[in-house]
Amino acid sequence: MIQDLDNKKLYNEYEKREAQTGDLVFYFEKDQMFIKVDGDGNPSLPTAADFPKTRLQYLFRIEENHYFLAMDDDDADAIKAMPDITKSSARNLRDLKHKELAFAAATAYHLYQWYRDNQFCGRCGFPTQHGSGERMLKCPSCGNSIYPKIAPAVIVALTDGDRIMMTKYNGRAYKRYALIAGFVEIGETAEETVIREVREEVGLKAKNVRYYKSQPWGTEQDLLLGYFCELDGDDTVTMDEDELSTAEWVHRDDMNMEDDGFSLTREMMVAFQKGEF
Ligand SMILES: [Zn+2]
Repeated sequence: MIQDLDNKKLYNEYEKREAQTGDLVFYFEKDQMFIKVDGDGNPSLPTAADFPKTRLQYLFRIEENHYFLAMDDDDADAIKAMPDITKSSARNLRDLKHKELAFAAATAYHLYQWYRDNQFCGRCGFPTQHGSGERMLKCPSCGNSIYPKIAPAVIVALTDGDRIMMTKYNGRAYKRYALIAGFVEIGETAEETVIREVREEVGLKAKNVRYYKSQPWGTEQDLLLGYFCELDGDDTVTMDEDELSTAEWVHRDDMNMEDDGFSLTREMMVAFQKGEF
């Protein structure tokens, strides 16, 4: 999955660290980020040396690579004028072909959205300040503490013997097969979310809900929780046509999926195809 970086690990602990010359910098403009691409097509990030005027906020490190976020656009013109710089989607990281950069970008984009959306206190409207010892934004006027927001969501592999329920989203850029999915709503457990999403998206009953694995999905500010469950009773699909364009039972012999090393959804589909569930 996107977070599995061979021997490397993301260290998300907050540090009060000033940017050093070689530290790596994410500069986002809406849902685009600026990356350098060399003659062989290898992507990399600009470094702190490229941002002499910008306020840089420390985010996290992956082993010895320290990642920062550009908090203003004071160096924007110079960055955009660099010869090897290009804009790249911060949402569609699958095509980046550089796993550490993809996971770093997803996580940085998550934090970018949080910093961007909490410049002012939601309680009293006063400008917020960074907490001194942790990743938190504090309102100096009313004392409100604002921590990064993570939305839990479930990915659901609904199975019926050798068949699995495969879906495609309606009206989204992602056109490949997906699984039933949805956000955990206030007042329910993740297991109840699984049952509810199966009912809402495909009109079926589910039983025997079992947890599989989780995955941070920073581009959408989510934590994805993967579950397997089994069909309970009638297999007739009643699809939610607002959410989905396709919902169908697929036999594991007809799946022909490969693990893309990126998404929990794909890993779950491949696990079912191999007969592990
Ligand atoms: Zn306030």
